[in-house]
Formats: sequence, structure tokens, C-alpha cells
Amino acid sequence: MRIEFDRDTCIGMFQCVYEWESFKRDEHAGKAILEGADEVEPDRFVLEVPEGEEFNAEMAARVCPVDAITLYDDGEQLIP
Ligand code: SF4
Repeated sequence: MRIEFDRDTCIGMFQCVYEWESFKRDEHAGKAILEGADEVEPDRFVLEVPEGEEFNAEMAARVCPVDAITLYDDGEQLIP
């Protein structure tokens, strides 16, 4: 499972932070940080979800009010 985080779209509501510990608050920027992710394009981050953390990653993607978090499983888009 792969997670993509569009930091440009993120509006810093921080719901994701409560769902998955890989998302951290960047209060200064008013945006979340996806820890351990690679920046594949400016402000676009990708991370392979570690085994056992899929549910939390899914919850983080579901609660984002602006769909800044996208989840893929086997190349297929799951959320949003
Ligand atoms: S829930 Fe969405 S908008 Fe809010 S901090 Fe997380 S990624 Fe950003």
C-alpha cells in the first residue's frame, strides 16, 4: 500500500495526525508532515505504508477534509 500526500493542498487541520502517527504537525508552516516520505515532486510526498499500519493510514486519508491524502493498493486508488 502506497500513500501520497499533497502538501500544497493541505490546509493544516491536523485530523490526520490523530489517526496515524506518521503524520506530524508543522505548526510553523500550518501543514502536516508525512514522516519518512520521499518528495517526488515539489510538495508531493510518497511513502510505502509499513505492514500493520494500513488501517491507520486509511483512516488518515479518510478524515482529510481536502483530500490531500491518497491511498493506493496494487496501483489502484482506494481513497479518496
Ligand atoms: S487532515 Fe488533510 S488538511 Fe489536515 S493536516 Fe492532514 S493532510 Fe493536511
